[in-house]
Amino acid sequence: MPPHLLILGGTTEARELAAEPAVRRPGVRVTVSLAGRVSRPGELAGEVRIGGFGGAEGLAEWLREHRVDAVVDATHPFAESITANAARAAADTGLPVVVLRRPGWRPGPGDHWHLVDSVPEAADALPGLGHRVLLTTGRLGLAAFAHLSQLHFLVRSVEPPEPPMPPDTEVLLARGPFTVADEAALLREHRIDVLVTKDSGGAATAAKLTAAREAGVPVVVVRRPPLPSGVSAVPDVAGVLEWLGRLEFSPGR
Ligand code: NAP
Repeated sequence: MPPHLLILGGTTEARELAAEPAVRRPGVRVTVSLAGRVSRPGELAGEVRIGGFGGAEGLAEWLREHRVDAVVDATHPFAESITANAARAAADTGLPVVVLRRPGWRPGPGDHWHLVDSVPEAADALPGLGHRVLLTTGRLGLAAFAHLSQLHFLVRSVEPPEPPMPPDTEVLLARGPFTVADEAALLREHRIDVLVTKDSGGAATAAKLTAAREAGVPVVVVRRPPLPSGVSAVPDVAGVLEWLGRLEFSPGR
């Protein structure tokens, strides 16, 4: 049986890792797992499976059934449940697991950041900061803002957001990467005076922070949830490759 690597995906890094020649070599089986939230996930290298596993137990069962040898959790920093499930399932099955967690963003000179611990806290912080909000926390969780009827929201997401949402909401469907020039134009054209974002990190969606800084627009930043205790994390694809090398994750081992 060739060694079998499971990549929990849904991010650019998962896509890059699956396409890495060092991973996609003869004699290694690679499966990428997606939650199925996005209707057109695009081309992915390796075998692709879509949909939840049924909690940590379901994932552990899947790992056994498909004779997985190692797990890379390359899910989004805010995908808290699947990361917790992966840690538990790996512990239950005795499999090695690593989390690929891209570094968070850092405020620089000229930034006006308001750090909060959750999306509802971001909603609490908004009144007083601005009236026209660019909301980029994703299509879920808008209920937390639904009571803010005095504010105008421009909600940007990849897939259409789900109600309930604030009464004065305009939706912009778009997928990064975005440039600073485009983000600056967006802030200007929609007269945005406050931005809300998760601390997703990464380059694809960082331009909004630069544009906000240049426009003097305050930013409400939702801090990341912590990693489950005891799991090891690496910041990038290179880190995963090193980790796999240390596992001697190679054909014919
Ligand atoms: P979540 O809250 O951690 O996961 C909810 C449930 O969705 C999990 O318990 C699991 O269902 C299933 N799931 C999540 N990721 C999966 C995967 N890669 N493969 C198979 N099942 C998965 O996750 P989420 O925040 O809804 O995010 C869903 C996916 O979108 C993730 O893969 C993530 O990488 C991606 N994403 C999330 C965000 C974000 O802001 N949260 C942003 C960009 C991309 P079962 O319990 O049934 O196994």
